[in-house]
Amino acid sequence: MSAEATATGEGLKLTNTLTRNKEAFVPIDASNVRMYVCGPTVYDYAHIGNARPVVVFDVLARLLRHLYGKEHVTYVRNITDVDDKINARAAAENIPIRELTETTAQQFNADMAALGAEAPDIEPRATEHIEEMKQIIEDLVAKGFAYATDDHVLFHVPSMPDYGQLSRRSMDEMIAGARVEVADYKKSPMDFVLWKPSKEGEPGWESPAGIKVKGRPGWHIECSAMSAKHLGTTFDIHGGGIDLTFPHHENEIAQSRCAHGTEVMANVWLHNGFLQVEGEKMSKSLGNFFTVHELLETEERGGRNWSGQGIRYTLLQTHYRQPIDFTFKALGEAEKQLGRWAELAKKHSISPSTQPKPAADTLAGLLDDLNTPRAFAALHQLARKGRSGDSEAVQQLVDTLAFLGFDLAAFAKEQAQAVPQQDDVAPELKAEIESAIAARLQARKDKDFAKSDEIRDALAQKGVVLKDSKNPDTGEIETSWSLK
Ligand code: AMP
Ligand code: ZN
Repeated sequence: MSAEATATGEGLKLTNTLTRNKEAFVPIDASNVRMYVCGPTVYDYAHIGNARPVVVFDVLARLLRHLYGKEHVTYVRNITDVDDKINARAAAENIPIRELTETTAQQFNADMAALGAEAPDIEPRATEHIEEMKQIIEDLVAKGFAYATDDHVLFHVPSMPDYGQLSRRSMDEMIAGARVEVADYKKSPMDFVLWKPSKEGEPGWESPAGIKVKGRPGWHIECSAMSAKHLGTTFDIHGGGIDLTFPHHENEIAQSRCAHGTEVMANVWLHNGFLQVEGEKMSKSLGNFFTVHELLETEERGGRNWSGQGIRYTLLQTHYRQPIDFTFKALGEAEKQLGRWAELAKKHSISPSTQPKPAADTLAGLLDDLNTPRAFAALHQLARKGRSGDSEAVQQLVDTLAFLGFDLAAFAKEQAQAVPQQDDVAPELKAEIESAIAARLQARKDKDFAKSDEIRDALAQKGVVLKDSKNPDTGEIETSWSLK
């Protein structure tokens, strides 16, 4: 560990889903600390909920690099580029699967970069690890943990006596929770798919376990194969959203431990809580479903909307294990706060050091199970000192923010370039814009998203930029506009 970490007198503590305890983190090998996080299934834009694990585990990766040294951490986040949802979307849009997955993966990375998330060290794609998946499947069959039918290979859950340790559910709950098909080729209703047949036109590979027809992997086996290949059969941290605990992570554990004969797959299992929007579960039908892309807005839409750094700030105001209520009010406040800090930095002509380090109180917060609200409280203290003229405090503020993935200068620049407010607009044009906005809101209410996008794009063509927010009092989505 670096001097600072030791100097705080405490090391990193993390709440491990496997044990349900907050534990001191002890890496298997401090010269190579290894973390795997389940990445996106690339068929559509990432929504704001998907962004939460990315931002949370980005902060953890930054912390680990600070504690153990940049070159002593390996952070792997995969891309799931073979999946039924991908096949369905490519068919619906009549585009090649590869085109869909590559475009979506690029969009994902661009959106996450806008949120200040660094790229993981390794970003493996499932389709590039089919041989490794087949090998694990063959090993599981050879060891009696899996069996082949005519065209499927299934993991036989009763063959693993301690199956279910992560989610600690009863058999009945697991059967209900997994929503598993009770197919007649299954020996037990709990058994899950390792390999399944591919229909005509679907991606398919030569099958393992003596199956004659072409097939493709199940989702869980993908992460078992990619994590083992890049991090070894037992590694330090495995992360993802809370919904992945069961069945995805439980099944990853079963496959990996049984194939490799190991006691544990990963020592620490970390799960972020779910995100909802304005107090409700995010859903397209409620009109509160937001992709990161649409919040950010891109050139094609004619200008920026919300700032990526503001979104990052908002996501980090709640402890990662808690559910988070994402609101536009909070997002607006986040931008104001970042703006105030950016002004302070400018006033003191301070930019980040080459290797920015976190302030001691922020570090102490992060070491305590990645307590980001506590880590941010320290920033407000520094800003208070800065406002009373303490330049050293401003330097610490700017460095701590840089360490946490914020770039105040870039934020200020982006805000300065933001679209001007409604200038002198001819009344007829104003009326035209406002009636288009009303038509768009109606289209959204009618769930005609194609039409609402069309209206928005037509306005963007005329240089009119829209910004949606939810009125905290009425709960209605409201749209303001400005000219580019
Ligand atoms: P998916 O593409 O559904 O597999 O999700 C990718 C990642 O986003 C997983 O780690 C999920 O747990 C996480 N995730 C999905 N929806 C939400 C949400 N509403 N809040 C927080 N995390 C989410
Ligand atoms: Zn996974």
